[in-house]
Amino acid sequence: MSDARLPNKLHAETRLVHDGILRSQFGETSEAMFLTQGHVYDSAEQCENRFLGKNDGFIYARFSNPTVQMFEQRMAALEGAEAARATASGMAAVTAAVMGLVRAGDHVVAARALFGSCRYVVEEHLPRYGVESTLVDGLDLAAWKAAIRPNTKVFFLESPSNPTLDVIDIRAVAALAKSVGAALVVDNVFATPLWQKPLELGADCVVYSATKHIDGQGRCLGGAILASAEFIEKNVHTLLRQTGPAMSPFNAWVLLKALETLPLRVRRQTETASAIADWLATQARVRNLRFPGRKDHPQAELIARQMLGPSSLIAFEVGTSKADAFRFLNALRIIRISNNLGDAKSLAVHPATTTHQRFTPEQRADMGVGEALVRLSVGLEHPDDLIADIAQALKA
Ligand SMILES: *Cc1c(COP(=O)(O)O)cnc(C)c1O
Repeated sequence: MSDARLPNKLHAETRLVHDGILRSQFGETSEAMFLTQGHVYDSAEQCENRFLGKNDGFIYARFSNPTVQMFEQRMAALEGAEAARATASGMAAVTAAVMGLVRAGDHVVAARALFGSCRYVVEEHLPRYGVESTLVDGLDLAAWKAAIRPNTKVFFLESPSNPTLDVIDIRAVAALAKSVGAALVVDNVFATPLWQKPLELGADCVVYSATKHIDGQGRCLGGAILASAEFIEKNVHTLLRQTGPAMSPFNAWVLLKALETLPLRVRRQTETASAIADWLATQARVRNLRFPGRKDHPQAELIARQMLGPSSLIAFEVGTSKADAFRFLNALRIIRISNNLGDAKSLAVHPATTTHQRFTPEQRADMGVGEALVRLSVGLEHPDDLIADIAQALKA
């Protein structure tokens, strides 16, 4: 959805400043924040028609809100999607997208390298409602194929994955899903809307935690579901309306304004991450460096085909033990310890004791999450300051 006055072919930077604006009668320059739960009608007839869907206005903030709709339209314009729905958090987006596609008796196949809560939804919550799931090694196309059952309705994956930054062949998995009539849902948080376009690669639905790079300044939670108008209407529209994981208009306003600077921020973060990754590669105490922008990444060839940029996350091992990783994290002075990512502030985390704590050491080893692994989310600080900080902490 886009502003009819705007030329069709515009770059993301331009769309993110000008698209998705619902200007009020006051002609405000900056998008207005509509903090209202409901709306009043000129007449009972207008109210009736609104409920019948015969006119397009707003009814109630659980269904839609002008500020939330601006965020949705701007996200759709950025992603190149026909339709978007905003949610209260990234997890609300993931849950609604997946739950909206299944009924009791259906089956979901998911790549096992998933963000922690996503894995809970697939492994613990879906089975409680009679939806079985199989977790596979997302990198192994034969494993996806082998997991398919007659009742498989959804393929779900995250790429690059957390925290090892493995990259899954979205085009190949999408083709496989299509061949058995299943829908592919892609969690595109790590790639950001700038650097990977799952819908163009054949995915049916893209989900985001807007909490990450989209806000990018650590302020509020949010999520988005993007797909064809038919997909949204058929699978998530009613579920969202009736179950209520609506985004608050305040958060929508923050995220809407954040979208104006998303390309600037993500480009800068990506450049800095590239510089840091190349520097880390020269450091003796750093092992198993993973960065999607480097030629030594195990899926470098796929990345060149599939991603438009490597994004802002780096994974690496410091020394060989948890103690080595902790000594490094505790010695950092600029980079802060936090499990969040995509922020203006550079943040580092020890996945084995936080996001991946609930797994056994064997399961973690299987996922590539070693005791010495550190995940770094690169922020907006000057690259020289960040490299100096990492250098002094590596000496600790
Ligand atoms: C953070 C995150 C989520 C969940 O988003 P919230 O906004 O925290 O609910 C889902 N997937 C990935 C990959 C994430 O990084």
